[in-house]
Amino acid sequence: MLVYVGVGCNEGERFVNLIRGIRFIAKRYVILAVSSIYRTKAVGFKGRDFLNAVILLRTYDNPFAVLSYLKTVEHLLGRRSNDPNRPFDGDILLWENLYLESPILTVPHPRMYLRAFVQIPLMELFKRGFPTFGYKLRTFADVGDVVKVVDGAALQLLAVD
Ligand code: ADP
Ligand code: MG
Repeated sequence: MLVYVGVGCNEGERFVNLIRGIRFIAKRYVILAVSSIYRTKAVGFKGRDFLNAVILLRTYDNPFAVLSYLKTVEHLLGRRSNDPNRPFDGDILLWENLYLESPILTVPHPRMYLRAFVQIPLMELFKRGFPTFGYKLRTFADVGDVVKVVDGAALQLLAVD
């Protein structure tokens, strides 16, 4: 199955943490695409800016196993529970042919519709021709807060085994 995963970081050496997180994900799953990295203001709390990106991966695991692996990576990179600041965050955004609502996992991600820092990198991958799974992107009148800081063309190297 193909899965879009959103990754983010607002703590420590942010670029390094984000790349380390993506590389941990690549140890277990084949990464097919990596968007540009965008910088965004923390939403809902006062904290350092986030770096965000979206990746596309291929997996034969079930969704709960992927969620569990993302949480493992978050912990490896030092995430603490109950702190909105985070060295690494990995969210399942879209999963090919799957709608799921459960207490620990909802797909598509329930808040992705609200988040320009998800919609914008996702649009970038859709424009590059990766599958949309029928998902309708939302456009934002003002995306001034979401600034591209590293171009995806360079990051695509991360998708090479
Ligand atoms: P967010 O990523 O939205 O900022 P958190 O990272 O704190 O929030 O995640 C809170 C919980 O949301 C996770 O522990 C997880 O069980 C749950 N969750 C529900 N749906 C998803 C999803 N699609 N991807 C990742 N986590 C999810
Ligand atoms: Mg999360």
